[in-house]
Amino acid sequence: MSSSLINAFYLAAAMLFILALGGLSSNDNAKRGNLYGMLGMALAIVATVFSDVVTNYWVIVICMIPGAIFGFIVARRVKMTQMPQLVAILHSLVGLAAVSVGYATYLDPALHFTGVEKTIHDLEVYIGIYIGGLTFSGSVIAFGKLSAMITSKPVLLPARHTLNLIMFIVVIVFGFKFVGAESLDQAYLPLIVMTILALVFGVHMVIAIGGADMPVVISMLNSYSGWAAAATGFMLSNDLLIVTGALVGSSGAILSYIMCRAMNRHFLSVIAGGFGTSSAAVGGGEEAGEVVETSVEEVATELAKAKKVMIVPGYGMAMAQAQRAVAEVTRLLMGKGVHVNFGIHPVAGRMPGHMNVLLAEAKVPYDVVFEMDEVNDDFPNVDVTLVIGANDTVNPAALEDPGSPISGMPVLEVWKSNITVVLKRSMATGYAGVENPLFYKDNTRMLFGDAKSNMDELVKALT
Ligand code: NDP
Repeated sequence: MSSSLINAFYLAAAMLFILALGGLSSNDNAKRGNLYGMLGMALAIVATVFSDVVTNYWVIVICMIPGAIFGFIVARRVKMTQMPQLVAILHSLVGLAAVSVGYATYLDPALHFTGVEKTIHDLEVYIGIYIGGLTFSGSVIAFGKLSAMITSKPVLLPARHTLNLIMFIVVIVFGFKFVGAESLDQAYLPLIVMTILALVFGVHMVIAIGGADMPVVISMLNSYSGWAAAATGFMLSNDLLIVTGALVGSSGAILSYIMCRAMNRHFLSVIAGGFGTSSAAVGGGEEAGEVVETSVEEVATELAKAKKVMIVPGYGMAMAQAQRAVAEVTRLLMGKGVHVNFGIHPVAGRMPGHMNVLLAEAKVPYDVVFEMDEVNDDFPNVDVTLVIGANDTVNPAALEDPGSPISGMPVLEVWKSNITVVLKRSMATGYAGVENPLFYKDNTRMLFGDAKSNMDELVKALT
């Protein structure tokens, strides 16, 4: 394929990626956005495979076919509740790719650079491997935390900031050594030490993050994976990879900023880690008091009397796969003339937009689904709030207890409604591991059990 045709394909792919990002900014256009993204990626693959840089098609076939089959099977098998950890592990692959490409381009005997070009290439390799290494190991730890293989509580080494600083200084010093190296023998040591430190730094950074701050880390790793891809693009002199990586990197950075704002956190303090370390994080059951249990029949009776109902879903709705039953209850209530709205916390669930995706899948009309800020003042006028598997995102301790690990995080103020019904299976804490005083409030009713079973029963009771 001629280079001008390849450039035309790359340009079209870059435009499709921008349209894809634009599409993903609203529920209505999300499907179209995904289609643009898929088309852009197909164009990018075709143009790259048929470009001059590819001389051995067998290698491409041998790598791509098993990769595509594996990806297809994994994507088909993954449950909706496992999506966050799938996203995390996919980020780790981008990091691993950047490390592999860095080593491969550095060791490629066909690539000879001298003078300034050599310095630039060495820097690209060094920075690319560094970002790739920390993205890889950080994403693997995020995968472990999201799939509950590793504790969601922060794991803090003593003098962790000093450790990070020392590692960073060593990376810089070895960077000078690497760029100044005159032979491979001189370059190996700094390159390998830096790679190990990047991997250690990724683990150290993510393992120190408390549960409630994980959303920021997810979006930050998303951003890093973009910069790792852009670094790979520089190493391979592939313009499209640079543009695409920069798009992912900057949109991930914007998402991190949005997440920080939603959680009232400073980005740097989240990255420095350590939120969620106070004793309240353990949830020692200090909240003395009685909880009031309710039944499906009682909830149905309250809903029948209600004029205004708010539904606040959380991770438990995803776990229970209760979204269709929730949608059915919504339809039944609306059919009876009840005003039903949904209030979505920006970090509800385990990935950005998790609840919106589930509600869209269950065909809940978009115009009754609102962001936290849009509905938080409405709660005093709400007759019944149904909290379906949400916990941290409705925890009043965030506003009332300055010592709480989630202190300062805005939450949905569900306790201000006339009656708040909480659907969950037990008195267990949420992801952040923080006790929830909401359960003990006078106007709170606990509907224990699996959210789907209870919502199915509610459908029957309302029909
Ligand atoms: P939480 O994780 O705080 O709580 C979920 C609740 O759901 C649990 O308390 C659990 O209680 C209940 N639950 C689980 N399974 C079921 C079931 N089958 N039926 C009924 N209830 C069930 O959820 P939130 O959405 O309120 O908060 C999200 C948390 O995750 C925040 O701390 C956020 O920071 C964090 N996070 C968010 C990410 C994001 O990008 N959105 C990414 C990573 C972390 P029980 O066991 O008693 O049933």
